Amino acid sequence: MWQSVLFFLPDTASNKPAVACSACLLGHKVRYDGNDKYHATIHKLFEQSLETITVCPETAVGLGTPRPTIQLIKTDAGVHTWNLENPDINPTTALKQFGKTFFTEHPQLVAIVLKARSPSCGYQTTPLFNAAGQQQGLASGLFATEASRQGVLMVDENYFDSPVACREFSFLCYLEQERRQLEKADIKAWQQHYQQRLGLALDAQGTLSALGTAVNQRLETYATTD
Ligand code: SF4
Repeated sequence: MWQSVLFFLPDTASNKPAVACSACLLGHKVRYDGNDKYHATIHKLFEQSLETITVCPETAVGLGTPRPTIQLIKTDAGVHTWNLENPDINPTTALKQFGKTFFTEHPQLVAIVLKARSPSCGYQTTPLFNAAGQQQGLASGLFATEASRQGVLMVDENYFDSPVACREFSFLCYLEQERRQLEKADIKAWQQHYQQRLGLALDAQGTLSALGTAVNQRLETYATTD
């Protein structure tokens, strides 16, 4: 029964949700230029509230550090990635395969924090070119595209630009972890339980907080997917 599942606040939980993170955001020097993109807020969030699974798709498929840059290229056969000046540097197949393997090996993942604008990790933020090098718009990197097929919560570093963002993200991860423990038949009652609690959390003007709104939106997705 869903009532037997206790919802723990992130600060006190012992079973932290497993969340993947682009390695460069956590300070690993794995970027093409040999540097990182350390993000102190994200690092602290993972340290305090989440079980961390660090991932760098490009180094995982054997691209060294430092390495030539790669770009997302729109082709007749879909989105690929190669080096515009040297098309022989083409890890498209390897990155797609790595994405599939990564999520098969980590079925416990409830969410992923990705580096924006990367041809591997960017989530709807990465410049997309044609083979002549002209930008066609924005798209998701090859690893992020695979992540989006897995149904995990996906954000990039730009999500963490407000004080409430970390709390909101933690809450959503715990919510997702809790949902996975439920029988399908119990989802609806569990969902209503949280929505009633959100109703009690209205402010003096009768509106939901930003956190409440985000949680409610997440609950609504469960209503349509389960
Ligand atoms: S953005 Fe992704 S692929 Fe690029 S260095 Fe960071 S973790 Fe590695």
